[in-house]
Amino acid sequence: MTTPSAPPPNKPLSVPAKAMRKLGLDRDIDLALHLPLRYEDETRIVRLVNARDGEVVQFEGEVVYSEISIRSRRQLLVTVDDGSDTCVLRFLNFYPSHQKTLSVGARVRVRGELRGGFLGREMMHPHFKLAGGELPGALTPVYPTSAGLPQVYLRKAVLSGLARADLSETIPAPFLSQNMPQRMSSLREALQFLHHPTPDVALQTLEDRSHPAWQRLKAEELLAQQISQLQARRVRAAMRAPALKGSVLRGAQQPSLHAQLLESLPFKLTAAQQRVGTEIDADLVKNVPMHRLLQGDVGAGKTVVAALAASRCIDAGWQCALMAPTEILADQHFRKLLSWLEPLGIKTAWLTGSQKPKMRREMLALIESGEAGLVIGTHAVIQDKVKFKNLALTIIDEQHRFGVAQRLALRSKMTDDGQEPHLLMMTATPIPRTLAMSYYADLDVSTLDELPPGRTPIVTKVVNDARRDEVVARIQAQIAEGRQIYWVCPLIEESESIDLVNATQTHEDLSAALPGVGVGLLHSRMPVAEKKAVMSLFTDGVMAVLVSTTVIEVGVDVPNASLMVIEHAERFGLSQLHQLRGRVGRGAAASACVLLYSTGDAPRLGEVARARLKAMVETNDGFEIARRDLEIRGPGEFLGARQSGAAMLRFADLETDAALLAWAREVAPLILNQYPELAERHVLRWMGSKAEFLKA
Ligand code: ADP
Ligand code: MG
Repeated sequence: MTTPSAPPPNKPLSVPAKAMRKLGLDRDIDLALHLPLRYEDETRIVRLVNARDGEVVQFEGEVVYSEISIRSRRQLLVTVDDGSDTCVLRFLNFYPSHQKTLSVGARVRVRGELRGGFLGREMMHPHFKLAGGELPGALTPVYPTSAGLPQVYLRKAVLSGLARADLSETIPAPFLSQNMPQRMSSLREALQFLHHPTPDVALQTLEDRSHPAWQRLKAEELLAQQISQLQARRVRAAMRAPALKGSVLRGAQQPSLHAQLLESLPFKLTAAQQRVGTEIDADLVKNVPMHRLLQGDVGAGKTVVAALAASRCIDAGWQCALMAPTEILADQHFRKLLSWLEPLGIKTAWLTGSQKPKMRREMLALIESGEAGLVIGTHAVIQDKVKFKNLALTIIDEQHRFGVAQRLALRSKMTDDGQEPHLLMMTATPIPRTLAMSYYADLDVSTLDELPPGRTPIVTKVVNDARRDEVVARIQAQIAEGRQIYWVCPLIEESESIDLVNATQTHEDLSAALPGVGVGLLHSRMPVAEKKAVMSLFTDGVMAVLVSTTVIEVGVDVPNASLMVIEHAERFGLSQLHQLRGRVGRGAAASACVLLYSTGDAPRLGEVARARLKAMVETNDGFEIARRDLEIRGPGEFLGARQSGAAMLRFADLETDAALLAWAREVAPLILNQYPELAERHVLRWMGSKAEFLKA
């Protein structure tokens, strides 16, 4: 069919070709696996009198009127009569060829969304062609596409990709038994059906992906994910890492660094910290690289666990790197670990993007010579220039903040003899355990399920923005008691500058309302040095109130802060709210979190926002929060967001398809063992070049 938006015929194909590449549609199989978003029904011709406004319909009729109107703006208006009623076709953009096809007396076939208009029923920019011709026997697929890639072009490409692709079975028949649809016996059938379903299909089963063809596809996808995880695990098991044993550093006569660090800590480890430490130690003494996720709620004390792991590594005579997502956080780790390790004679190097060239050169030299046992920094740690003498352990804090590529880069900082470093990832936004176990077959998980003693739970209140004054009064009371306060302003995605106004305004207002009180401002656009200066004024207690955008979100540790105010809390995600709240309640004083919300012009908050704020009031437990988050958002998005923004699964949904996931988990090792070639082909088919990434 001709569409007004179709490109003129002679346009070179390079634009769509580029767009296809961007969508990852490189191979025939990629095209075959590019499944429709929805379908259009061109298999039927309806009578206008039977069609309702709002429906997408196809009808045939005679053009009874055609004009180019120039009243409000130039447009082509064409009236078509199908014998039962008339419909006006309205085109704001059109070519002379449109006018020609749609000339009075012509019989045309038209498809579009019907709506009631000023001139009677009308369609805006409908598809049309001359009437007659065969009706297709299948629904017409509408594919996800992007700018510069017309649907018509994509349809053709998919069709030929589907015809050319190798769709031979990679799942041996015996494994296609339980949980697997019997009816859709081959991948080829399933794909052909999903691209061109017969019109008698119950559309609902395509939409909710419960149709056997969808089940088959989702099972295939989950199987590919499981096999690739198993492969990754095997590849890793075959790799070598330095076994971090003994105390080369101090010699056998003296207490190890690890023992000395434990001795010098101002607190006793919690049972959970001890247990997790033992789990990590058990990995480090092996000559296989560790691949462990340490999850623990905000404030659970992950830093000291990291420091103890680092000390094991340094004890054995190797270097350790610790990477954090923001400079503020890296700086804080640096100070803390420096204060613990320097007195014990360990040199720590510091690397960040903003440091002066001279300082940087000095640090690089310390790292290369091996003089620095520990290296702490931001992304700067993974740059090519950074050469370690003998890196054996890398620790990534707030790992979900890093992209997969960055994590791979850090892992590839191999030692000279080709060994891989051990990897410890830390996160405060835990993956619910069942999900972690079933989804990440190639990840060992340690969990800090206990907070250090003496913490009083944080009381969370949801307060309408109209009652801001009461909140300010509360701040005054806290300051009178010598406490400190965070006030966080939201990140508005569309405009960083509005953000700034927001935080700046709040800063001014609070400064005016609290005369004689030190009120600081921190936002992402400030030069790093200034950020650090403000942060240390707050850390040292000189400033009582810190107004900030979300730069303080991760990891900041100021135990004297006891009140967290979050403005426009309705705009934050649940795990982000929990992270922010975790900035308080770190000392013995009772702490509170105030979630200020505003409904804007609406009478009340939206459903999802309400569910999030409710969850915040009801629980302080990060695992419970993660569970609720999962419930509110669904696992696809939950995991997707964690993985550098790219969804890991295109089709399957870990919750609705739990049965398929269970099947995939069960058969993946069997297929990999008994049919290694099929397994290889299966993963390649589904993941192509992405397979490498999934292993990070
Ligand atoms: P997170 O897990 O969020 O990274 P931190 O490592 O920043 O938490 O620890 C939070 C605070 O708790 C820090 O001030 C830290 O020194 C303190 N802390 C950690 N472990 C213990 C413990 N076993 N007993 C008392 N305080 C602890
Ligand atoms: Mg932390």
